[in-house]
Amino acid sequence: MANSEISKGIFPIDISALSENTILFPFIKKDLEYGFDALEPHIDTATMQVHYNGHHTTYTNNFNNFVSNDVPETERTLVKILTNVGNYNDPIKNNGGGYFNHLIFWKMLTPNSTLTPLGTSATAIINKFGSFDNFKKAFGDAAATRFGSGWAWLSVGLDGELFISSTANQNNPIMDVVEPKGLPILALDVWEHAYYLKHQNRRNEYINSFWNVVNWEEVERRYQEAKGIIGK
Ligand code: MN
Repeated sequence: MANSEISKGIFPIDISALSENTILFPFIKKDLEYGFDALEPHIDTATMQVHYNGHHTTYTNNFNNFVSNDVPETERTLVKILTNVGNYNDPIKNNGGGYFNHLIFWKMLTPNSTLTPLGTSATAIINKFGSFDNFKKAFGDAAATRFGSGWAWLSVGLDGELFISSTANQNNPIMDVVEPKGLPILALDVWEHAYYLKHQNRRNEYINSFWNVVNWEEVERRYQEAKGIIGK
């Protein structure tokens, strides 16, 4: 890979302080911090089992296989790969995104949700969107209107402001190929595999259920980390 190719894709600011920057090849699945049944009735046991044991395992294994074949040894860190993913083939993007997105998504869920945001992220959400209800509506709309498979995101942008976006497939806001770019603090998986067993085609039911299991402490941790990295 030529230097010109590396420089064209990298994230516009240094994000080496991001928690996930410590994650290196070979990539492993982190243990869930709660049981498969812990998010019932909001997210059902069968979905959690197939999602974590099935889909997440496949992304992880495929990512390792493609990285070992296609990514130079000096480039094999999770954040480095994703912020330069336009330089690699689609399997790296799809499986690397699948690995990263699920890794952070599991930690954004908890059986002990406070149900409302906390701390500095709560203030930022209310300042940006007017109220928590307005935020939920806007985020829910982004999740509902993502056509096909993808994700909804709340991120801190390069200007230090919160923004809502959605991405197709396993793309995410730290990828060089995605606009707008930012550091995600909340994510919702809207692939059918995330809800179909319980909700079938009723994605809105799933989105409404999600609000009962959001880990706002993790959102606050990510918000403070992102603000520190972006410095605005
Ligand atoms: Mn998923």
